[in-house]
Amino acid sequence: MSILQGKKALIFGVANDHSIAWGIAQAFHREGALLGFSYANEKLERRVRPLAESLGSTFVEPCDVSKDEDIAAVMRKASERLGELDILVHSVAFANRDDLSGPYYTVSREGFRVAMDISVYSFTALAREALPLMRPGGAMLTLTYIGAVRAVPHYNVMGVAKAALEASVRYLAADLGAHERRVRVNAISAGPIRTLAVAGIAGSRALISEFSKVSLLRRNITIEDVGNAAVYLCSDLAAGVTGEIHYVDAGFNVAFPLKMDEAG
Ligand code: NAD
Repeated sequence: MSILQGKKALIFGVANDHSIAWGIAQAFHREGALLGFSYANEKLERRVRPLAESLGSTFVEPCDVSKDEDIAAVMRKASERLGELDILVHSVAFANRDDLSGPYYTVSREGFRVAMDISVYSFTALAREALPLMRPGGAMLTLTYIGAVRAVPHYNVMGVAKAALEASVRYLAADLGAHERRVRVNAISAGPIRTLAVAGIAGSRALISEFSKVSLLRRNITIEDVGNAAVYLCSDLAAGVTGEIHYVDAGFNVAFPLKMDEAG
């Protein structure tokens, strides 16, 4: 069974082998997709290149998503070397560490701007620049978190950014669904996973260990769980699905906020 056979995907957001984007890349590769990767800066190249090569990918290009010229350059190279694309994955977020602890209202104007620019605007910018490369029926995917719709301790400005990202998914789905290429746009809202990005959030260790006690499946989420759901959302199996925020969180978002085992 190769659900993504013949499809080409460009993936933003692999930093190391703990990254959610890496879980997605592995699942896409298993299902027959051809992959291209983009990484944030030179420091990451020595980690990302061997990972990409282990999945048979030779397209490994830098792109700081806060720079329009970097986005234009990576799309130009993708067009030259990969040709048309079927899938775009945006698994990128950033906020200053100081803004991911303590109260939300202490966030500075600059801290707010940086979080919104890198974590929200970049998806819209990538979607726009990738659109001319997308094959009809293609799919775009981003990653969000329940902090968009609930006040999660210390998630702060990133929760505000994720709310804006989820709204972007709906507006992009409207625009690109009406576009002649009929491109679909969805998000996965993942349960907490220990990655580089999460290490910067105060209290994340306790939150992850608590999660396994209250999620309906009584376990944590893995990057493999997210990768498998991404295969579905980016494949023709989900041809009728767009504008969705799809929770991959072991049922946490529908759970009553009380440890079920203690409820008797
Ligand atoms: P990660 O640190 O592995 O990935 C974040 C990526 O963002 C890194 O590859 C980093 O290089 C990239 N990035 C940051 N600034 C960038 C820039 N200016 N230009 C280009 N790339 C940049 O952590 P992750 O947890 O895999 O995060 C991936 C996505 O998943 C993020 O959007 C995150 O908010 C989301 N998410 C994570 C969790 C979790 O618990 N880990 C849960 C829900 C959603």
